[in-house]
Amino acid sequence: MTCSDLPKVLVSACLLGQPVRYDGRASGHPGLLQRWQAEGRVVPLCPEVAGGLPTPRPPAEIPGGQGAAVLDGGAQVLTVAGEDVSAAFLAGAQQALRLVRRHGIRVAVLKAGSPSCGNRLTYDGTFSGVKVPGEGVTTALLRREGVLVFSELELDEVERVLSGLSA
Ligand code: SF4
Repeated sequence: MTCSDLPKVLVSACLLGQPVRYDGRASGHPGLLQRWQAEGRVVPLCPEVAGGLPTPRPPAEIPGGQGAAVLDGGAQVLTVAGEDVSAAFLAGAQQALRLVRRHGIRVAVLKAGSPSCGNRLTYDGTFSGVKVPGEGVTTALLRREGVLVFSELELDEVERVLSGLSA
């Protein structure tokens, strides 16, 4: 199998060292992700920037913490000042979906805790640091497409899944 045949992985751009977080910083870049980049298997995306939001930008949360509810129109993504930024979050999620379909991606590694990228926990909308079980808007849409969405905290599990796909 050549490098170009290896299953591609959608990865949150901030995990790759790109300074696209709301606060204008990156989130670090674990060695495994760097190796995947060298192998040419990483498809990077920051859904919020892809959706048209600037960097830096105000922090945003989903009241109740459920990205799927945003997809279905039952919840909004709000900044700390109360601005509704749902449209940008939805546009970014659609951009992720396009990339996944274009590259045949079945696995994503997205930043834990984000209202776009979180896969297990998200903030509850009170801007008080409280997390609840839930997923971000992009994660929710990708899961509806059948993509397995992990976080940077689960890279061992991702390697197991990817080696199964490569076998
Ligand atoms: Fe962009 Fe997702 Fe990282 Fe937030 S967590 S900066 S939306 S890639």
